[in-house]
Amino acid sequence: MPTKEEVFQRVIETGSLPTLSTVASKLINITGKEETTIYDISKLISQDVSLSTKILKVVNSSFYNFPNEVRTIQQAVAILGTNAVRSLVLSFSFLNMERPQHGAGFNYGRFWEESLAAAVASKLIMAKVSDQDPEEAFTVSLLQNLGKLILACAYRETYDQLLEEAAGSEKRLLELEDERIGANHAYVGGEAAKRWNFPDSLSIPIVYHHDPDSYSGDDADLKTEIRVVHLAALLANIMYSGNPIDYHVPFRGRAQKMFKLDTASIDEILDQANGDVANAAIYFGLNIEGTASIPEILQQANIELSLLNMSYEQINRELVQSKMQLEKITAELEEKNTYLQEIANLDGLTQIYNHRYFQESLDKEISRSIRQENELSLILTDIDNFKKFNDFYGHQAGDYVLKELASLCTGVVREYDLMARYGGEEFVFILPETNQADALIVAEKIRAAVERHPFSYEGDDYRVTSSFGVAVFSGVGKMKKTELIENADKALYTAKKKGRNRVEAYAEKSGWFGKSK
Ligand code: GH3
Ligand code: MG
Ligand code: MG
Repeated sequence: MPTKEEVFQRVIETGSLPTLSTVASKLINITGKEETTIYDISKLISQDVSLSTKILKVVNSSFYNFPNEVRTIQQAVAILGTNAVRSLVLSFSFLNMERPQHGAGFNYGRFWEESLAAAVASKLIMAKVSDQDPEEAFTVSLLQNLGKLILACAYRETYDQLLEEAAGSEKRLLELEDERIGANHAYVGGEAAKRWNFPDSLSIPIVYHHDPDSYSGDDADLKTEIRVVHLAALLANIMYSGNPIDYHVPFRGRAQKMFKLDTASIDEILDQANGDVANAAIYFGLNIEGTASIPEILQQANIELSLLNMSYEQINRELVQSKMQLEKITAELEEKNTYLQEIANLDGLTQIYNHRYFQESLDKEISRSIRQENELSLILTDIDNFKKFNDFYGHQAGDYVLKELASLCTGVVREYDLMARYGGEEFVFILPETNQADALIVAEKIRAAVERHPFSYEGDDYRVTSSFGVAVFSGVGKMKKTELIENADKALYTAKKKGRNRVEAYAEKSGWFGKSK
């Protein structure tokens, strides 16, 4: 890391130090001498017609508000004083300088606009806090950040990077300059001012503008000037940094502490600043974009801040709420889906599987049976003389019997057997991995259970019987589902024909194969 001195050496070697106009440098030179008269100064300035015109324009503007027109530079020097005129000449010299080669990230137009805002602020503040001429404070503020322009020329890309990283924070920028370059812009600006032979009243405040407390000299006027320039820099940052609130609070606090400025005076300065900057830009021939008034800027920033906070909280709250809602809906949906699926598969009266589900299941079981070469049995059952039962005891009792029989049979078969209501008073059982002999045993078990069961309904016991037809698929070769059902139906028909309340198996070749109770 180079020393501060080495950094400034590089500034000079790279030609990054702006050249002072001839008039300005001569003026500095002669105003430093005791024997210099107002006449000498006027003569020097008058040589530059364009500069003289500009100065007279400013002097006669509302910037000074003199009651009578000032016609000559000599008059101006007499009224304003040597130092004030020197300051004006310097300000013009810099505001009209040729644009140097700086890094692409450095906004030259904006730089002078902000500098002018600080200069105008200095004048405003000085008028409130001291009888001192405000011109020097104006010029110092205008030039306080010249070190930035110089570094932007000497270190281009590096400085672009620093500006980006600092993101509008003046404090951070100074730190980064020290860390990455080896010297900050306050130092570089101060060195440049010395090099141009600026008097102490101009060069010292440049060095201390960020840190007024570190000035240890005993010149009271200079101390006041340093503090004014410092406050003015804060005010310009309220207007231009993009983080107005970060500078507003310190501005008020320090204005109060350093100069015992009351709230009303501070408000006056803040209210007036942007209008005065716009006017000054006209007098000094600077094209600026301008800003809203500081109260408007602060109001806007506060609105954005509260919006930001509010929307953050709101977003958070709403996110949590929607998440909870979503979880609730998902759970409900799952529940409903399961329920819908179940009721879609179930028979409304008996709450066992319905015909549709039976058909689907039989498809699957036949495929599985073929895959595993396992036998598959089907039992079809039909309640005996159920029409008569209904006629005799009523449809309600009939319904009860259907329900009761369904639950009774479900308890008799194995868990992986499937019972469904085939339709009316007919039920069907799918028995996977079951051969005919075993299916007949199951059917018989069911038949016996039904026969034995007292169907108790409204205080009365009812008895019913049921007939059974059993059909088997061997698991080998082809068999259509309809064929299997038909076979079971045929066997059931046989059971009915043979007197009901019995089990019959379908036998392909030898005709009906029967098994009585
Ligand atoms: P079979 O022994 O020959 O089967 O005689 P069945 O009277 O049972 O036969 P049929 O097919 O002639 O009559 C079936 C009866 O079953 C007709 C109807 O009253 C009754 N049934 C069908 N579905 C229901 C139902 O959901 N509830 C009630 N209560 N009865 C039903
Ligand atoms: Mg029937
Ligand atoms: Mg019947």
